[in-house]
Amino acid sequence: MSGTEVVERARAILGPAHVLSDPADTAPFLADWRGRYRGAALGVVRPADAAQVAAIVRLCAETGTPLVPQGGNTGVVGGAIPDDSGRSLVLCLSRLNRVREVDPIGDSLTVEAGCTLAAVQAAAEEAGRLFPMSLGSEGSCQIGGTIATNAGGTAVLRYGPMRDLVLGLEVVLPDGTLWNGLRALRKDNTGYALKHLFIGAEGTLGIVTAATLKLFPRPQSVATGFLALPSLDAALQVFAQLRGALGDRVTTAEILSEAQLASVLAHVPGTVRPLGTIMPWYLLVEVTDPMQGLDLAARLEDLLATGLEDGRIADAAVARSQAQANGMWKLRHSVSEANRKSGIVVGHDTAVPVARIPDFVARATAAVAAVRPDARVVAVGHIGDGNIHLVAILPESLRTSGEPLDRIAQTISAAVHEQAIALGGTISAEHGIGQSMRDALAAFKGPAEMALMHGIKQLFDPLGVMNPGKVVAARHCPRH
Ligand code: FAD
Repeated sequence: MSGTEVVERARAILGPAHVLSDPADTAPFLADWRGRYRGAALGVVRPADAAQVAAIVRLCAETGTPLVPQGGNTGVVGGAIPDDSGRSLVLCLSRLNRVREVDPIGDSLTVEAGCTLAAVQAAAEEAGRLFPMSLGSEGSCQIGGTIATNAGGTAVLRYGPMRDLVLGLEVVLPDGTLWNGLRALRKDNTGYALKHLFIGAEGTLGIVTAATLKLFPRPQSVATGFLALPSLDAALQVFAQLRGALGDRVTTAEILSEAQLASVLAHVPGTVRPLGTIMPWYLLVEVTDPMQGLDLAARLEDLLATGLEDGRIADAAVARSQAQANGMWKLRHSVSEANRKSGIVVGHDTAVPVARIPDFVARATAAVAAVRPDARVVAVGHIGDGNIHLVAILPESLRTSGEPLDRIAQTISAAVHEQAIALGGTISAEHGIGQSMRDALAAFKGPAEMALMHGIKQLFDPLGVMNPGKVVAARHCPRH
């Protein structure tokens, strides 16, 4: 069947208004927000519900048409962008945006995949509960995308990544079967936990159409602090002390290097240094409790006083108003914008065992300097998860130098990944694999694990139509 016929059949299923094929209409769906990945497609299909998703998937299975699911298109590894063959359909989930059920007794919420993360947070708040995932992209990224990438963010320390927040899933399988696994159960030992295969699969095994998510009590007492630290070793000691004293109340511990903070202050209007002291590292800490009336700010100040006395903390401020806390958070949430404005960004999503963070940062920074002395290194990350985003920033002038930027980025990333792996770490902690990390994944996992992954892909998607070429290499030509 020709591409034109596939588009016509999609129009018959969804109605003409919901199948885009004019290049002016499809363009926003064929490139990522950073302009790094560009593809081509027969069209963009916009189903309204799971039944329409299933009908489109059946059409793709029957005609061998590759299907690329796309949520908010905020991903950073090119997973939602089709290849340049022009044979794919992009499946936009935005119209699946209903909140199906809120259950404050069972502490769960069932939403469709196209709800933005912010809409899910708002629905939880309306029910007097918390959906704790928080990302810089939460206004645009969708719950289906966060599930497909097993997203992390700033509250993983307390609540875990998306994998820990999903109770059940509804998924359209690659042959068009609708699997209803929306079980709102905390305990369910009935054989293989299939939902976990779809979480983090980046749309390569099926299309998530809805999810039942865990809710939590809303924090009623909150304290936010910003600390200046002489070293990463000191940061880890302070973090361990806070965890020891406050346990799970420490919901956030985000580390920023001075170079990263300086970049934010230079490039993002409305940001200010919270402290007069300039130190190599800063820690943004948030402490929360569902009980009302606790003076967590005073408790945090007491704990920080010890560190200030023994020199592990050089300076610290605890927010005394919501505006002050927002100012501290703005510094953290502005890093992507600041880095983008400051040069050519080669970012990384490595994680190492927490105690190895200082070693990793020292080794990886030296490794980058060895391969690219013109790169500036900044670091930001989730210290409690060992997930440090080491970012190499190259001068903009390289764009016109004739040097191949792709190859430069690959050399830098190989050097950073080598150090993470040597320390028992991973090359992707929360962003996923998509297309950009696919070859690196094969080297990282080794043949036994890759053979199992290919076997799973083959079992679920024997025709190879489901987001081909992402996570694992496409094994065969999908078109019949
Ligand atoms: P998309 O980018 O549209 O898609 C991502 C992948 O999921 C693709 O492979 C796509 O095919 C697949 N997919 C999408 N929807 C579905 C579905 N319904 N069913 C099956 N597959 C699907 N990520 C973090 O983990 N932590 C962070 O702290 C973080 N901060 C960010 C800050 C900013 C400013 C930005 C721009 C991004 C950030 N991200 C972060 C990355 C990104 O927001 C997340 O990866 C997010 O989970 C992607 O959601 P999305 O809806 O945009 O998915």
